[in-house]
Amino acid sequence: MQYNVAQLLKEPTGATRSVELNQEPESRGGYSPDGLAGRMQFLRTHQGLLVRGNVRARVSLTCSRCLNEFVDAAQLDLEEEFFPRVDVNTGQRMPLPSDTEGTIIDANHVLDLTEVLRQYVIAAQPIKPLCRADCSGLCQECGVDLNKENCTCGEGTRDPRWAGLAALLRESEA
Ligand SMILES: [Zn+2]
Ligand SMILES: [Zn+2]
Repeated sequence: MQYNVAQLLKEPTGATRSVELNQEPESRGGYSPDGLAGRMQFLRTHQGLLVRGNVRARVSLTCSRCLNEFVDAAQLDLEEEFFPRVDVNTGQRMPLPSDTEGTIIDANHVLDLTEVLRQYVIAAQPIKPLCRADCSGLCQECGVDLNKENCTCGEGTRDPRWAGLAALLRESEA
């Protein structure tokens, strides 16, 4: 996800480029988008380049209830300003703002979106991912996936002394 932006940096403030993003599946620690796609705009600003766009990310998540992997789609609203390390015309070092994690255009005028997209993907992930809203999860007793099969744990642990009461309850519900 690297773009050489030397030409755009030479243009006046307000100049733009439309950039297509189409990233093949990849996987790395703690971050495994199965694909990123979208259209972005690079806008020449006074200090650097503003990257804006809508990126669709497909991400593999683990369901917090049944522990199955599933693929989720996230919509990333990207807006991030990148700052050149050197002046494209003079080659001189540029003063950089303090908070520039992943948003520096390197000395070869290459803008790398990897780190910024990684952060956006992580921010878009739910804290407790669910494969579906009504996921039944795993049985606390035997561990079967209750989405796929039923178990008799619930019945087996019921105290037989309560059986009479349970029957009464069933009758009153009916
Ligand atoms: Zn689930
Ligand atoms: Zn069970």
